[in-house]
Amino acid sequence: MENLPNLIGSDWVKSAAPQFLDVKNPATQELLARTPLSTRAEVDRAARCGVEAFDLWRRVPVGERVQVLYKLKRLLEEHSDEIAKITTLECGKTFAESKGELLRGIENVEVACGMPTLIQGYNNEDIAAGVDEMMIRQPVGVCAIIAPFNFPAMIPLWFLPYAIACGNSVIIKPSERVPLTMKRIVELVSQTGLPAGVVQLVNGGKEAVDAILQHPDIRAVSFVGSSTVARYVYGEAARHGKRVQCQGGAKNPVIVLPDADLEMSTKIIADSAFGCAGQRCLAASVAVTVGSAKEPFTEAIIAAAQARKIGFGLDAGVDLGPVISPESKQRIMGLIESGKNAGAQVVVDGRAAQVPGKEGNFLSPTVLAGVDPAGELAQTEIFGPVLSLMHVPDVDAAIELVNKSAYGNMACLFTSSGAAARKFRSEARVGNIGINLGVAAPMAYFPFSGWKGSFFGDLHAQGRDGVDFYTEKKVVVERWPKDWTRKF
Ligand code: NAD
Repeated sequence: MENLPNLIGSDWVKSAAPQFLDVKNPATQELLARTPLSTRAEVDRAARCGVEAFDLWRRVPVGERVQVLYKLKRLLEEHSDEIAKITTLECGKTFAESKGELLRGIENVEVACGMPTLIQGYNNEDIAAGVDEMMIRQPVGVCAIIAPFNFPAMIPLWFLPYAIACGNSVIIKPSERVPLTMKRIVELVSQTGLPAGVVQLVNGGKEAVDAILQHPDIRAVSFVGSSTVARYVYGEAARHGKRVQCQGGAKNPVIVLPDADLEMSTKIIADSAFGCAGQRCLAASVAVTVGSAKEPFTEAIIAAAQARKIGFGLDAGVDLGPVISPESKQRIMGLIESGKNAGAQVVVDGRAAQVPGKEGNFLSPTVLAGVDPAGELAQTEIFGPVLSLMHVPDVDAAIELVNKSAYGNMACLFTSSGAAARKFRSEARVGNIGINLGVAAPMAYFPFSGWKGSFFGDLHAQGRDGVDFYTEKKVVVERWPKDWTRKF
């Protein structure tokens, strides 16, 4: 069984960690590898290599830097089946979902290939007679990426391509629960000709994260994970003088109006709620019906939930895989029970899910009706294939419900009314809006924009926000008199 190494400088090295964490296939409990919970000293070594690499890499012209990304795109595409298989084995999602997330990651590599244009500054000639002023962008230094378990390939790629194309060096700290996907991707990064130390990988958990947050040579931190940890990382990184962006958890409502296309809306909402076993920060977790939409939608979503096939993500015909761990399954089952105790009806109960021959953390789609908007189930991020149903009389009440949430990652409206859609788009206080869409995931050239308890920071992941985050702005004011000695 492999004890995973870290990539420090140019070498994959054995970790000196005193503790290792088992990485298990969530569909079978098969042991896949062991993640070292790397120490502060290992982060320190990576940071020092990162500083050296940065000094060289920042001087490489941006047109040359992006050549690495063109090679990376080709390598990721050539190895996409292999990477997707690794993701399915360690994370549990279906092979199609794993391929899909990698493609969304590759889109960020493509956008960052435009860095020669994206990194341009601006200038004014003659701000005073003979004086010019310009803004140029320069890389920040050593940057760290701290990732969650649910998108092992895509989420580090929300940041990595922009960071290196801007001239930074990067330390990636993958989720200790799914370290294998990023190990393979970083092996491919090493084949692009990128100088040693520009991209490094340190496995680990809290100790490694704290070492990153407190290290004086690490200048910027990009974090994605639960809101509790996001809030902590944001505060701790800021306290140590770093720039920081932290994407947190979510509780995403979708609103169904009576004029929505019922068949299409149900299919889309079921995909959103139960796809990736509900372990998506853009998963629909609350469906709010308005007026007469209640009965037909409830009936249709029950049928859609019951029709989904659970199983091992590499098997054909499987719609959703297991949740990440037995502890996660227990936590989700506890939340379902607490919702039931608070008066909700479990109209589809997936808790007894079994997959013949597999000992996985399986939980089939579950639907609860009549959920109390103020109760624990409605307020807590469940992160499993569980959809809560609520009902309100009109669009205003639905928007009020969206705006009361502590989270603000996404909200969606299903309707055929342009006026309702426009009102919703304008008034819902969330960062990503979907109209007749269930997973409003921004393309790589738009910011992944969470609000409220779903995001801590100002510059988001992806696109131009990524360029702003990974560069410092420098302003230069210049005077070049023709005859210096005569004028002064
Ligand atoms: P998590 O917060 O448990 O872990 C995220 C990272 O933080 C990991 O690398 C982990 O090692 C580290 N970490 C965990 N506990 C820590 C602590 N106490 N101190 C320092 N570091 C710590 O999140 P997860 O369970 O891996 O991922 C699921 C969460 O991520 C969900 O809440 C989901 O909504 C969120 N998420 C958000 C987005 C988004 O774009 N907003 C995207 C994906 C996932």
